[in-house]
Amino acid sequence: MKLQRKKKIKKLSEYSKDFGQFLEKTPLRVVKATREDQIARCLKMARAESLSVSVRGAGHSSNGQSLNEGGLLFLNFSRRPRFKLLENGCVEVLTQTCWYDLEKALNRLGRSVPVMTKYLNLSVGGTLSVGGYGVRSLVQGGQIDHVKRLRLILPEGKALSCSPHKNSKLFQYALAGLGQVGMIEEVVMKTLPYHPLTFLYFLESKSLSHYAASLEWLLDWKEEVPDHFSASFCKGKMISTYGVGFSSIDSKRFGRISGPLTKVPSQNTKVIQDYHFALHSVQNEWVSRFQKHFRVWGDYFLDYKGFCKFLNYVEGELKKSHFSQGLEAIYSVVMRRPQRRLFFPLEARVSPLTFGVGFYYMIPWKRSDPLKNAKRMHDRLLEKCLEYGGRPYLFGYQAWGESIRRQVYGEAYEELMKLRQKLDPQGLFQGGKF
Ligand SMILES: Cc1cc2nc3c(=O)[nH]c(=O)nc-3n(C[C@H](O)[C@H](O)[C@H](O)COP(=O)(O)OP(=O)(O)OC[C@H]3O[C@@H](n4cnc5c(N)ncnc54)[C@H](O)[C@@H]3O)c2cc1C
Repeated sequence: MKLQRKKKIKKLSEYSKDFGQFLEKTPLRVVKATREDQIARCLKMARAESLSVSVRGAGHSSNGQSLNEGGLLFLNFSRRPRFKLLENGCVEVLTQTCWYDLEKALNRLGRSVPVMTKYLNLSVGGTLSVGGYGVRSLVQGGQIDHVKRLRLILPEGKALSCSPHKNSKLFQYALAGLGQVGMIEEVVMKTLPYHPLTFLYFLESKSLSHYAASLEWLLDWKEEVPDHFSASFCKGKMISTYGVGFSSIDSKRFGRISGPLTKVPSQNTKVIQDYHFALHSVQNEWVSRFQKHFRVWGDYFLDYKGFCKFLNYVEGELKKSHFSQGLEAIYSVVMRRPQRRLFFPLEARVSPLTFGVGFYYMIPWKRSDPLKNAKRMHDRLLEKCLEYGGRPYLFGYQAWGESIRRQVYGEAYEELMKLRQKLDPQGLFQGGKF
């Protein structure tokens, strides 16, 4: 009996932390989400017992977004890809599927996910609940832009099909909404032809403000290549990587470039096989070096003008030792937002072309002063980001009060609260995120 209890507590404690590792919440029960009817039954049971309910994908958000204290935690992550490729090139996939497995399986069928995060051991449901951006966001936008329809299980257990044309309000708040209106069980999303090769171009900027200036040409750029972009801070410099995906050396896309890339010397270019998996490996290896660390991560999204001001501010801060203490990486992407009637009110993109930059602090466990410092640095970054008209990416660390959230999201905030009140009057489902 004692052994069983110990086992149970160990199991619960496995899910009491997230990627950030600085918060701890222990659920009363952990249930692996399997079928729609099982999820509905558990939701009804939780209601009857007045238990709070949370949904966890791969648990890689970093500020307690996927944690639960004393209630029911749905585990919605599986390494068995569950999907069907449809005739129109879309894929129907259970949200518990891991992106790594989905992309591998799609590649074997000659298809690819339009936008992949740089680290792929994340759940489909988890990244769609924040937005999902990556090196192809320059052309392809966010993962959420490619969702045609989704199956949403409401807090009371009823399941609905949602799309831009059906239950559109729920569709809008389910995507990039931290799961606050229901659990996304399945989605149908677009796929693209698989391009196994990517031609990469590397550009160096000697400072963050030079980096910001180097992106200006993208504001008027309308071509389809380059279709990959990201940048990382390394030894005081910002290294931008642009890329063009292509299927073989005979492809018309091979070596096609535009803008300042035409001036990149050939020694600063290379062709790489399966770029997304290469990026994932590097990221995976890098993260694994910080096992016993608090990971205080945060990304900030701004329009171009705001981005230039923001990076100018960061450049000044970088010279100060407290800003750099524990700051292990700075990473940046550029994201297009397609023109469309329907948008996602809670997502972080703020303009047709949004510029994102993330600051990733890694603080060894048991060091509470640097942890406090890292949080303080993010508080300041958030303040500046908001001052320059930006928004934070909701997966990361933010300490912000209700009045600021109201100010940032405006009418959308009120609308979300009304929706939640209607769907979940007891306030048991996915609370405390907003
Ligand atoms: C190493 C690393 C690299 C990253 N790289 C990128 C990147 O390149 N681009 C990018 O955009 N992001 C990136 N992220 C952020 C990442 O996209 C988010 O943290 C994402 O939420 C992780 O997915 P997850 O499955 O771990 O979700 P979780 O952390 O488990 O959940 C996130 C939120 O979504 C909710 N949720 C999860 N599943 C569902 C569901 N099925 N229905 C409703 N709500 C749900 C949870 O309740 C929670 O609020 C990265 C994070 C890490 C740690």
